[in-house]
Amino acid sequence: MAALVALVFSIYFTASVLQPATAAAEAGKAKASMQQLPTYFPNTEELRGDEMRITALGTGLPTPITRAQKNSAWLVELGNGDVFMFDIGVGSMVNLFGLRPDFSKIDKIFLSHLHSDHFGDLDAFIVGSWLSGRYTPLHVYGGSGETPELGTKAAVESLLMALAWDIKSRTGLLPDAGGKVIAHEFDYKAENQAVYEKNGVRILSWPAIHSLDGSVSYRLEWNGLVFVFGGDTRPNKWFIEYAKNADFAIHECFPTPEGLAAFNDWEMRPSTFVSSYIHTPPQGFGKVMSAIKPRMAVAFHTVLLPDIQQGMLEGIRKTYDGPLTIANDLMVWNVTKEAITMREAVFADRVTPPSTTQAYKKAPRSGEAKMSKYIMTGVWKGFTPPPLPAR
Ligand SMILES: [Zn+2]
Ligand SMILES: [Zn+2]
Repeated sequence: MAALVALVFSIYFTASVLQPATAAAEAGKAKASMQQLPTYFPNTEELRGDEMRITALGTGLPTPITRAQKNSAWLVELGNGDVFMFDIGVGSMVNLFGLRPDFSKIDKIFLSHLHSDHFGDLDAFIVGSWLSGRYTPLHVYGGSGETPELGTKAAVESLLMALAWDIKSRTGLLPDAGGKVIAHEFDYKAENQAVYEKNGVRILSWPAIHSLDGSVSYRLEWNGLVFVFGGDTRPNKWFIEYAKNADFAIHECFPTPEGLAAFNDWEMRPSTFVSSYIHTPPQGFGKVMSAIKPRMAVAFHTVLLPDIQQGMLEGIRKTYDGPLTIANDLMVWNVTKEAITMREAVFADRVTPPSTTQAYKKAPRSGEAKMSKYIMTGVWKGFTPPPLPAR
């Protein structure tokens, strides 16, 4: 049944979504009712042992972050039970929480670079996941910078310093180990070097060209499938070489210089520089994808306003005619060797935290956050709290 559904979806997307807008328009009104994506209800399906599920948690720009589009973040779940996050940009925790994931499994985040639209919700993740099921340390992977203070380790340690009050305040209430964050900083100049290898999963990294040295791209290899996540970059030779023939390749795609100028109300010079010298405009994205020929090319870092999106699609289609998704938040892809299907995750606006595990409930908690004698002199005698149960 699952295979049949996958096949139907794959035909459906080949027929409508993956073609240029012009082709879809030419297909006529009969196709109009097929423009809505099929829905995916989180936590209702088990992954097949050979399947990969990718969820877009954020696909937009930092100017502005909208209810419709949060900043870069991608959840990758594998059939062997492993879960990986790539980026954790501002606002993306809203979408991650909406999925109500088992946070005890999400303990590895790979950062493409240290712009806030790619790691600005790391603080929300550290605390939110710790409150909601994560009882082991969080591992954050990312590149070095030109100097130590511009690297991932310094960013994580500084963030933990900023969170000192928050983390100390939860001492004893939450599992000790869940409050720990371990930075794994690797050389951003590493070219297609493994930065992670465990349980049949290998993740390699190579440099990207973006604003300052330090942005990187990743390639995850597992069970014969290849997932590639490009860090912000102008088209670069390493991506062309190491992303080749990926099953699923995500690469940024900025609006055109004209589109960005209109959107931001900027002059053409900064718009051209941002769109095409430190990012990749639509025709550049198309050229990159034509060179690497993935089974599915995914564009993100977009503005999904109709005029701008149309310009992006037309630009891409001048240089690339293969399978394409211009990603929006909460698109979900299931990837196997036979098919790639795409759906939209659906959840309520007001979600409850996911269930925690016995291991979370029983994990060691030591110490206790304490307030001063002075503050406790302010306790109002007019209210008596219920007795505190024993530990
Ligand atoms: Zn950036
Ligand atoms: Zn960015």
